[in-house]
Amino acid sequence: MESGYGKNIGIQAVFHGTLGDAGCWLFTRTKPISRHPVFALVFPWLTLMPTITPLIQSGPFEVFRVVSRPFYENTYLIRRVGEPACLVIDPGFEPDAVTAAIDELELEPAAIVLTHGHSDHIAGVGPLRDRWPELPVLIGHGDAEKLTDPVANLSAGYGISVTSPPADSLLRGGEPLVVGAFRAEVAEIPGHSQGHVVFWFTGEPVLVFAGDVLFHEGVGRTDFPDGDFAALASGIITHLYTLPDTAVVLPGHGEPTTIGHEKQHNPFVPLN
Ligand SMILES: [Zn+2]
Repeated sequence: MESGYGKNIGIQAVFHGTLGDAGCWLFTRTKPISRHPVFALVFPWLTLMPTITPLIQSGPFEVFRVVSRPFYENTYLIRRVGEPACLVIDPGFEPDAVTAAIDELELEPAAIVLTHGHSDHIAGVGPLRDRWPELPVLIGHGDAEKLTDPVANLSAGYGISVTSPPADSLLRGGEPLVVGAFRAEVAEIPGHSQGHVVFWFTGEPVLVFAGDVLFHEGVGRTDFPDGDFAALASGIITHLYTLPDTAVVLPGHGEPTTIGHEKQHNPFVPLN
């Protein structure tokens, strides 16, 4: 169950097109439909089109997304344009779709980075490590124990038992996340999960991986045992609303947004 759960949850993941683009592609576990021999026979010109396009391009980065059911959790792949090295952020319940995307894009994972330890964000870690045994796992120091504790990572509450390999490196607020050529700033924002971290890359625009802290016109749940709405709101105002308005927020669920939009329109944490 630990590493195979995702295999039981359907065979398709949705890859969305560029930000604001309605286009999306259905992508099977084995190969995209546009590469199927029959499809290629009937629509040969379409096989020349890229199968997976970035969710967003932010010089010098490209970000791709895989959505995992049943929680519609976003796994992100970030790379520097033209380079194979990527970070895998929050691999969820459909690790085969993540692996398929990595293969299709000919990426080379450099690390798994986790915003927090809830099961829908960590379920894919084990399967990815089966494929890439040397891949280091990074998570905030306060959520590391959730990786190996099905009660703490909330999977036990759903009647399943999700665990992950333990962390190889712990993230702390104010200390940069550095993996190869990747460098991001890190902040700790408790409230949804005690050890939740957010991190942002200085691209053009800035790219913020917000996990379940801040969503498009929403925030993460705070009714879990270690939840704290006041801490969540305070962290958002202190660490996120001080980023540039143009900074793009890539949340753990749902569509991207911007810091400027949330400062104006977020009904849960308005900027007074
Ligand atoms: Zn969560």
